[in-house]
Amino acid sequence: MTEAAPTPGSIGQQLKVLGAEVVLSLESVDDKTALEALRVEVLGKKGKLTKILRGLAGVAPEERPKIGHAANEVKAAVERAIEDKAKLLDQAERQARLDRPQLDVTLPAFGQPHGHLHPLAATMKEVCDTLCGLGFSIAEGPEVEDEYHNFEALNIPQNHPARDMQDTFFVDGGRVLRTHTSPVQIRAMESQQPPLMIIAPGAVYRHDDDVTHSPMFHQVEGLMVDRHVTFRHLKGVLTAFLHRLFGEDVSVRFRPSYFPFTEPSAEVDIACVICGGDGSGAAGACRVCKGTGWLEILGSGMVHPAVFEHVGYDPEVYTGFAFGIGVERVAMLKHGIDDIRLFFANDLRFIQQF
Ligand SMILES: [Zn+2]
Repeated sequence: MTEAAPTPGSIGQQLKVLGAEVVLSLESVDDKTALEALRVEVLGKKGKLTKILRGLAGVAPEERPKIGHAANEVKAAVERAIEDKAKLLDQAERQARLDRPQLDVTLPAFGQPHGHLHPLAATMKEVCDTLCGLGFSIAEGPEVEDEYHNFEALNIPQNHPARDMQDTFFVDGGRVLRTHTSPVQIRAMESQQPPLMIIAPGAVYRHDDDVTHSPMFHQVEGLMVDRHVTFRHLKGVLTAFLHRLFGEDVSVRFRPSYFPFTEPSAEVDIACVICGGDGSGAAGACRVCKGTGWLEILGSGMVHPAVFEHVGYDPEVYTGFAFGIGVERVAMLKHGIDDIRLFFANDLRFIQQF
């Protein structure tokens, strides 16, 4: 059996049917993927239109241009219809996007960063809290101090070589930026009678500036005065203080030293918190304690009788001890910080680590 030869009429009919089919199919297409599939099905190399036009071979030559023309029209119409549908789909998609609620109340809120204490303030608080827990109360005094309270009353007379121990900032009118918080002790003793147990926390100033010294830094000094206060009280209180601050197991040692306002005087060391006291580091000697295994942490001593005379205490009746600790140094040791200037640069990348 042979296939009936196609006639111009039947090909034209097929083209019409195809056009109508496409219009119908387009109605049910609702996304771009389905639209592309339809385009290939109709207009692709092996698509329905190509298949219909294959029948052209059997059509009389004089009829072909007419059929060809009709085919082109159908093809153009189908392409147009597909293009229009694509536009419609785009529009619908855009509209859907716009119609979606812009504010999604179910999303988690943006975090609000919490502030916290500066590492120095936190260390200062820890030192003060520890000492207050041992019975001391806080006293305060001016940062711009007269020379009498900063030096003379502390047994550092004019021309005393000890004035060279502290590089002083001088202000007008015989005043200085206090070089230590010790003048607060003088003011406390001037206004109160023993027994006395105070600490003086605060900023102090010295003309010094490198990786371990800042022109402004912080001290907490302590003073205990009563009848019969001895060096054993000094050792006991300071050892308890350091154990609370650096841990119960930390070794503490007292070394003879000199301060004009105490006699006898002692520097207090703790076992190096970095190398644990054995003095060795990753490459030879421990960098922090320089291989000694010890870190100087406090200055201390029994209050010099001359200081008591300045404030009107009878040195035959009263004795006392005093000590001072550098807050920056404690913070640097506790957190392994090697440059004091980081505390004052206010770089959030540094501060946020605490
Ligand atoms: Zn060390």
